[in-house]
Amino acid sequence: MSETRSFDAPPGDDFVYLAAFQQLVLERSHDLITVTDPLGTIVYASPSWHSVLGWDPETLLGTPAIELVHPDDHARAAEAMRVALAGGAVDEITMRFRSIAGNWIAIEASGSAIRDAEGNVAYLLGTARDVSEREELRDRVREIDALYRIADAIGRTTRLADLFDEAVDTLLVSTDADRASILLYDEEQTMRYIAWRGVSDEYRAATEGHSPWTVDMIDPEPVLVPDTTVSGFEPDLEAAVLREGIGALAFIPLVHDGRLLGKFMLYRNEPHTWLDREVRLCRTIANHLASATVRTRTRTALRDSREQLETIMNTVDEGIVVQSAAGKLVYANESAARVIGFDSAADFLAADREEVLGRFEMLDESGAPLDPEELPGRRALRGETSERVIRYRNKLTGEERWSVVRANAVQAATGAVARSVSVIRDVTESKLLERRTSFLNRAGELLNATLDVEQTLGALAGVAVPEFAGHVTVDLYDEGVLRCVGARHVDPAKTELMIELRREYPPTVPEHPVQRAIASGEPQFIPDVQAEAESMAHDERHARAIHELGNTSGIVVPLAARGRTFGAITFGTVPPQLPFTTTDLELAVEIGRRASAALDNALLFAEAQARARATEALEFVDDGVLLVDRDEIVRLLNPAAARTFAVKPTKAIGRRVDNVVPDWQTVRDRTADTPPAKVGARRPELLPVEVKGSERWLSISAVPFPGGTVYAFRDMTEERAVEQLKSDFVSTVSHELRTPLAAIYGAALTLQRGDIQLEESQRSGLLDVISSEADRLARIVNDILWASRLDSGQMSIAIESCDAASLAAGVVDAVRAHAPSSVVLSVETADALPPVAADPDKLRQVLTNLVDNAVKYSPDGGAVRISLSRSGNRLRIHVADQGLGVPPGEQERIFEKFFRLDPNLTRGVGGTGLGLYICRELVHRMHGRIWLVSDGRRGSTFTVELPVA
Ligand code: ADP
Repeated sequence: MSETRSFDAPPGDDFVYLAAFQQLVLERSHDLITVTDPLGTIVYASPSWHSVLGWDPETLLGTPAIELVHPDDHARAAEAMRVALAGGAVDEITMRFRSIAGNWIAIEASGSAIRDAEGNVAYLLGTARDVSEREELRDRVREIDALYRIADAIGRTTRLADLFDEAVDTLLVSTDADRASILLYDEEQTMRYIAWRGVSDEYRAATEGHSPWTVDMIDPEPVLVPDTTVSGFEPDLEAAVLREGIGALAFIPLVHDGRLLGKFMLYRNEPHTWLDREVRLCRTIANHLASATVRTRTRTALRDSREQLETIMNTVDEGIVVQSAAGKLVYANESAARVIGFDSAADFLAADREEVLGRFEMLDESGAPLDPEELPGRRALRGETSERVIRYRNKLTGEERWSVVRANAVQAATGAVARSVSVIRDVTESKLLERRTSFLNRAGELLNATLDVEQTLGALAGVAVPEFAGHVTVDLYDEGVLRCVGARHVDPAKTELMIELRREYPPTVPEHPVQRAIASGEPQFIPDVQAEAESMAHDERHARAIHELGNTSGIVVPLAARGRTFGAITFGTVPPQLPFTTTDLELAVEIGRRASAALDNALLFAEAQARARATEALEFVDDGVLLVDRDEIVRLLNPAAARTFAVKPTKAIGRRVDNVVPDWQTVRDRTADTPPAKVGARRPELLPVEVKGSERWLSISAVPFPGGTVYAFRDMTEERAVEQLKSDFVSTVSHELRTPLAAIYGAALTLQRGDIQLEESQRSGLLDVISSEADRLARIVNDILWASRLDSGQMSIAIESCDAASLAAGVVDAVRAHAPSSVVLSVETADALPPVAADPDKLRQVLTNLVDNAVKYSPDGGAVRISLSRSGNRLRIHVADQGLGVPPGEQERIFEKFFRLDPNLTRGVGGTGLGLYICRELVHRMHGRIWLVSDGRRGSTFTVELPVA
């Protein structure tokens, strides 16, 4: 405040003194005293200009005072001058004056006008003081206040949006900005406006997402734009800024831990040089906000994850319980509360531990009482991780539940156990199921174990109680009357009562569930037995007895199979057992089904046994028996039949017969033409049936019965083959005998004729024919004789040591006598061959047959070589020819009796088919072997091997 004074008092001594005094005051005053002309040009400056601002007062004379004032303060300075010139009072104003060093110093100034005699303003007098310290202090206070407000907001608000709202206001108050905003990176790393003051929607839309820094920049620095007209911004941004009327702006990064989170924006309407102080304050606030942002975000995330955890905890079926080190319950989820029998986790947490424990009997898996200290949760507090099955029996309701409890210790930072976390899984349902399944299995075993079903069903009652039911009654028909064959109650005293009741009041009332089950063939489920006691009772006393037995629920399953009803089984529940559920009904029905099957089996047993005996007999008969049902499915096949058709009975039974015997069509057609007059009257048919590529001859007869046809057959393949061979033999032998006989007869007739004069040579030729053909005849007869002796067992063998080489040489000499000249016979003997153990006559016979054959089956001639060799302690005699050979497929069969190769293969060479048979039999009887090697084209080598003597 100033007052206008007048300088027009006349000077005097006092004045001089006073002037000197004033001069002194002016010279010594710390205030800046300045006199300007009305235009503001300095005409006097006091010496303190030098001490405060460094200016030499002399140099200031003639300078417009406004030039020393900070541009931001020009307007106010001009206004103050205008007021003073108009004669008004000028309030003290604070302006910044430039020092000689170029700093701005806060100066508080006031002024007044000095008038001349006419009363016009001649000068302006300004007095001013350096208030920079005060201003500095004020700024500090403002900053502290701003920081205080921010700190307060951080402490007060939990939502980031509220915090930033507060922060924008604080920024505006504590800096002299005209507008402000805060932006944060969102999840897509785009800067988004969170809070703002004085910026338009349009501006925000145009500038959102813009940032002078990239997201991954470490510790970015503020960016200051004192004059937006020369900002160097990209054109769109610059246009938006200018449109919004922003003269200067500052970007202050929000950084936490070196990481950029967002930014503050300060805006000035006019161009403005941003002061360090402003920037510093902004950065301090930014730091606080950044860490608050991170903290709030973390807290939100934590809260979210806690909420999630809580949701999970309350969604999982497992009960979760946390105990403090002192054993106090500190957390329980809803499932845990339910398992223990509380309505909510809150109720459970509020309850007293001793009281809760007192409600239950705690048992281990085997049913023995369990010390609460042994509960896994308690053990975990002692540092032991454990898991065990626990049975809780509610003392009040008797209900029993099973849980698997697993507990772990949670350690504090010190390593000591701070908490235990128990996870409780209620396994009651699966335990019940397990017990019931095991009951079902035991019942099944019991029912299958014996065929004395009545007794078994009685025992079943014993197995069902208490595992499945509180009581069980089994009623079976005995000659048309229902009779109780088994009863059992969990309370043994009541078992007697039940049996007595059944005897006195058989379940004959039509409304009785047993009757309903039997009549309908359907299981009966009685959810509330007591409610139905009256309707199922015979009289009042009976009804009372039913009440006394105290059943809660019941299930009756009928026992019936293949149209026959055997009776019914009744199951009942007795508290504390819970009433039956539909799962129990299914189990009961299953037991009923098994019991019915067992009863049915027992009935079928006698029949089955009879049938089994017949089947057993069939096992041992040599005749094949095959039973085929109407659908052509094999139902029975005895071992003989299996052998004939070369199949496994297990594989054949149940399959279509034509899959088992591919040629079945033939059998069916040949046996099914005429139905027999009476069983067994049909004559068997002898038919060839193809089995695995070879032909079997079956003598087969078919007998139809209501369910299908029984085929009985005998495999005649071997017999037929022998028959065939025999008939072949007869024709062969007749032919073989007729040929020499005809020759002998012809020669003899010619010799007898008197009308023909025969020369000597002709006579001897005819006699040769007679003798050689007689010899051939003798050989044939001989063969037949040998064979018949072998067959009848009349052949005696006298083994001795003999010289095989000389024997062979003798045979070759004898054969050579009548062999054709095209065949060259030879004998080769290795040196020093040992004697052989054989019957010499029989060995000669064998070698004669083999050498004869070698010659016979070499129609085109060739060499026949007999050689001898040693093989270990055996001697081998080989007869090799270059004749027709024997095809590999027939090499076994040529040793069979009467077997001869196809005449096409032997080019009509005659024989009986007995020679090789005799050879094999004789060799075997001399403990030797005989075999043949031939490729079927270029000769054969027969080898006889005999022991060395
Ligand atoms: P056979 O009296 O027909 O000769 P065998 O029992 O001696 O009777 O011989 C049986 C069959 O073996 C003969 O029919 C013949 O087909 C064949 N066979 C025997 N020996 C030979 C041989 N050395 N070369 C070719 N085939 C032979």
